[in-house]
Amino acid sequence: MKINNKTAKKLKKNFPIFKNNKGLIYLDNAATSQRPKQVIKAVIDFYEKDNANIERGFYTLAEKAMKEYNNAREVVAGFINAFPEEVIFTRNTTESLNLLSYTISSIIPKGKDEIVLTEMEHHSNLVPWQQFAKKNKMKLKIIKIKEDFTLDMEDAKQKITNKAAILSFTHVSNVLGTINPIEELVRLGKSHGAITIIDAAQSVSNIKIDVKKLGCDFLVFSSHKMLGPTGIGVLYGKREILEKIPPFNFGGGMIKKVEWGSAEWAELPEKFEAGTQNIAEAIGLREAIKYLEEIGLKNIADWERELTKYALKKLGEIPEIKIYNPGSDKSAGIISFNLEKIHPHDVSSLLNEKRIAVRAGHGCAMPLMKKLGIPQGVSRISFSIFNTFEEIDKLTDALKKIMVKLG
Ligand code: PMP
Repeated sequence: MKINNKTAKKLKKNFPIFKNNKGLIYLDNAATSQRPKQVIKAVIDFYEKDNANIERGFYTLAEKAMKEYNNAREVVAGFINAFPEEVIFTRNTTESLNLLSYTISSIIPKGKDEIVLTEMEHHSNLVPWQQFAKKNKMKLKIIKIKEDFTLDMEDAKQKITNKAAILSFTHVSNVLGTINPIEELVRLGKSHGAITIIDAAQSVSNIKIDVKKLGCDFLVFSSHKMLGPTGIGVLYGKREILEKIPPFNFGGGMIKKVEWGSAEWAELPEKFEAGTQNIAEAIGLREAIKYLEEIGLKNIADWERELTKYALKKLGEIPEIKIYNPGSDKSAGIISFNLEKIHPHDVSSLLNEKRIAVRAGHGCAMPLMKKLGIPQGVSRISFSIFNTFEEIDKLTDALKKIMVKLG
């Protein structure tokens, strides 16, 4: 379904949050999406009709719950073209990356002691690797961004060498909106024997990802940023690597055999899913994927690009604005900016008076803020399928009024 301003307004009606918050202009979709009623209903339906624990329940209800949970995994796998056993359910992107940072040292060959990241990483793809580097006496190398807010691929070529054990990078920057050339980065990483990890938290809802075609080793994302429930995320990993690395959490649900002094692990994916899982949330995520696929990721990306183009033009009319975005052809629907002489927190509070919700602060990317010379952070708007041109007009009018008031 092609989205335009009219269909976006129709789609908005499908999100109950707007019925309960009249006049709300939600421009914080990169922090967490709103949920369409189909997703909310799927979660409620599970609790009302199918709720049971999925492990070792040899009765009809438990078998149904297990079937639904397994099917949710199959749908996620199909969405990124993985095998179901390569899809591990976690709590979110952060937990997926932590899982890797806790387990991956066992497969790093001797002589490789560098971890390569980029300057646009979210703290979730930086702090776990800082800790990992300290523990394993390894070095972090950070690929620079250019003045136009895109990744410096020349610097990438310099920094990714045969010493690189891990190359972990974001697909889309949650601050700059920049879409990174993931195919090229994976190729570079692989050619030097590095383990490649893609943070797809901001991209999986609007760019089709085929892990088999890409050939990345790992891909991580969160359900709550793709119209799905909170509390569930995904770690995709190549089967042969997941089989080699040890479990992250230990306990029920992840074992084959236990004795007093030892245990054997279950097969994939259970090996990585200790304890009772977020069953209803997995089913909600399945519904979110169905909803995204029905609209079509390309249509979603096209609409978000149109909104970005329009917003960059409108925001650009404000003389006191500084925008941190590489342009709508190189960016997903995320724009960060600052207004002269006013703190992003104050911008956000003043916009809130007009019922406009935007994010403010360091965007979980403090080192990037430091590099950009803006320790106070930014104001950030981010789009979804239901945002419209009129909402961007209201935002720019409100920002202009703020500047007039400040004199
Ligand atoms: N990476 C990126 C690029 C993100 O935008 C975010 C969330 N803002 C995360 C990682 C962390 O996601 P979560 O909080 O769902 O773990």
